[in-house]
Amino acid sequence: MTRFLVTTLATADVVGGVVSCYAMNTMQEAQARKTFLHMVEGWGVAESMQSLYAHDKLPHFLLLTGVRGIGKCRLISEIIQRMFCEADESAAPCKHCAACGMIERGAHPNVRLVRGETQTGKISVDQARKLREWAQRTSTGLRVAFVPQGDELTLEAANALLKLLEEPPKDFRMFLVAEHPRTLPETLVSRAVHFTCAVPSVKVVKRFVSLFLQEDRLLRELATARKIGMLWEAFHRPEIHAEWRYLEETISRIMDEARVPEHWSLLQSLPYNADTLLLYELTLSRHIREKTYTKQMTHNAVLLGALRSSPPTSLATAHALTTLLAL
Ligand SMILES: [Zn+2]
Repeated sequence: MTRFLVTTLATADVVGGVVSCYAMNTMQEAQARKTFLHMVEGWGVAESMQSLYAHDKLPHFLLLTGVRGIGKCRLISEIIQRMFCEADESAAPCKHCAACGMIERGAHPNVRLVRGETQTGKISVDQARKLREWAQRTSTGLRVAFVPQGDELTLEAANALLKLLEEPPKDFRMFLVAEHPRTLPETLVSRAVHFTCAVPSVKVVKRFVSLFLQEDRLLRELATARKIGMLWEAFHRPEIHAEWRYLEETISRIMDEARVPEHWSLLQSLPYNADTLLLYELTLSRHIREKTYTKQMTHNAVLLGALRSSPPTSLATAHALTTLLAL
């Protein structure tokens, strides 16, 4: 089914300009098979990664930092797929061969994905040591480690990785993604070839969105904030989309009806993680844009911060809070 959507895209910062975009077509089969790399044409960091791969210059240890949700992990995943893809050389992986499939499912024997432990969310020294043993084990061929949440490395884990990187085994590569390089020990950062992942330009996002935007408020909000990495995940993984939708609706409801005391407990019951914060941020931005914020929301924002004993994690949240507090 083809239909035309007229979508207004605002730039990521709350008071920024608004760009009009005519997006057409819901997702079609062919588009579903497009790679992320195909869709972010013109995004500097993606082109740098592809060029490093094409010239066989991917470093032993690559660190990619930048704000959450813009597609850093998706970008690295596809670069790793390209490294193992069995199809003829091209700038992007084929997504169909056995290697591409195994990497997508996290099942490739030569690729190790290291995420925070379920209980703590942190990457422990044990995990780092196990990775080191795996990398040093004599084995033939390329081996790649991917740490998508570098911010969650404990100091001990970072030190264990440092030992591995001081004498990297032959044919071993490590990719580390984090939001802020300052959350990582300086010694680790100095070992890496460090790329800062800029927020994609409005032009890149317009093209990306025109390829597969649906009439879905959450997806539109993610596009508005140029969170194209999260947009990709939401689109390709219905279960994630459903979960985010639920959280977004809950947050939205709290924002709308915050005068009712029972809603405070709802606020407290939300899982506190980067997803919640981002969705909270998007909801807050929308209220500010649509001029439907209330004084009560100011208190909510402050309360949320106090509840979580945590400062705003992104510039956009900080900006939104400052705008509200100034009213
Ligand atoms: Zn492939």
